[in-house]
Amino acid sequence: MTLKKIFDKMGIRYSEDNIYFQTINSILSASDKINMPLNLQMMLAEPKNEVMVHFPVELDNGDWEIFKGYRVQHNNILGPYKGGIRFHPEVSLDHIKALAAMMTIKCALVKLPYGGAKGGVRIDSRNYSVDEMERMTRRFTSALGGNIGPSYDIPAPDVGTNAQIMAWMADTYINLSSPHNRLNSRAVVTGKPLAFGGSEGRDKATGQGLVFVVAELLPEMGYDLKKINFSILGFGNVGSWGARLLQERGSTMHAVMDHSGALYNANGIDADDLADYSSKNGGIKGYPKADETSEDEFYAADVDLLIPAALEQMITLDRAKILKCKVIAEGGNVPLTPEAEKYVLANGIDVLPAVLCNSGGVTVSYFEWQQNRQASYWSLKKIDAELGKLMVSAANRVKIRAKELDCDMYTAAYSEAMSYIKDAYEIRGIFP
Ligand code: NAD
Repeated sequence: MTLKKIFDKMGIRYSEDNIYFQTINSILSASDKINMPLNLQMMLAEPKNEVMVHFPVELDNGDWEIFKGYRVQHNNILGPYKGGIRFHPEVSLDHIKALAAMMTIKCALVKLPYGGAKGGVRIDSRNYSVDEMERMTRRFTSALGGNIGPSYDIPAPDVGTNAQIMAWMADTYINLSSPHNRLNSRAVVTGKPLAFGGSEGRDKATGQGLVFVVAELLPEMGYDLKKINFSILGFGNVGSWGARLLQERGSTMHAVMDHSGALYNANGIDADDLADYSSKNGGIKGYPKADETSEDEFYAADVDLLIPAALEQMITLDRAKILKCKVIAEGGNVPLTPEAEKYVLANGIDVLPAVLCNSGGVTVSYFEWQQNRQASYWSLKKIDAELGKLMVSAANRVKIRAKELDCDMYTAAYSEAMSYIKDAYEIRGIFP
């Protein structure tokens, strides 16, 4: 059944241009392939909870500002809600709803004991001091109150948030909880600094997971990792780690773009050196060992592999039409618009979907949560080994399902995840 029919049945107004409807549409279309019953499709068509908060923060100059924050909890049939917190001026409810639904799929695909959630605050962090950001984060955490918790909903970093923000969130939560439960309370968020219950390997986890998937799937598609070249859209956490770890395996970065500009060098750009430059200069612009290039030239770069790792839906149909890459490995969530997605698939570009490629972040978050709850410590070697096992298993299950269903990797990944969710619903039944 089409999503429009499901929404009509539920009495909800459907809009094709809306990122949430587009995301749910792809997920539910794939679930048709595994004959998911209509009642389960309806349950997954809308999030379980949508929490919206408005809260005041005192600025350094004594003024007050009211901020808007969100936490959307899409589904928890497999376990506590799990998903990042985004600080960005473009954050909106439908955007967060789409990302929460993706988290449900991602956790199910890797078979983690979690459901899906996402949150955020509409803020341009560049306009605020560190003290203001700390007060805002703490006040947001207290406004969320009992809507988050180590056994209920566990946030993590996303665009615009980092280990320091997670530390402020955890510290606020701990201070507001019973003194008898403070050790376990650290597990309320993941992606914390190492000195405060964080995990080895969390910083690079998403890039590392992406490289495990690429290394598993590309050779069978006829590419030798030692010989391929690639371009990266977005050189933040996911993009820069993905680039550095691919480089470690012998691949060469030819083009890269972030919010500050685009670079090209046919002889290769050293990802480690660029990461160092970018962290000191707030972006890649001005890097002296590559040529500055235009946005169009970046998209048109003749590379084997493109890794989009910036914001959602940056690859529009116009941009898709100039791509020369042979494979896209989605580091960021929903990097293509639906039209661009259709175009690239129809034109022979293979796409490894985000729910598979970027699930390394939530997987190492799961390891951090386990360590916090057991008051234990895992070495980086153990983290990498466990991450590798789960990523390779998910990649192979998606590959097998794509063959079984004779479909693209998006449909295969969504069907594989939905099949796991369907089994859980069928075993548990619908309460009461
Ligand atoms: P980040 O904030 O560290 O990096 C984002 C990058 O995108 C930056 O390099 C920024 O310059 C670039 N960017 C922003 N606007 C741009 C524009 N207009 N043009 C070109 N580049 C632009 O964020 P991140 O954590 O690396 O996340 C990137 C994506 O990966 C997001 O979709 C996020 O949801 C997803 N993701 C992240 C993680 C994680 O662990 N960090 C996990 C799963 C998914």
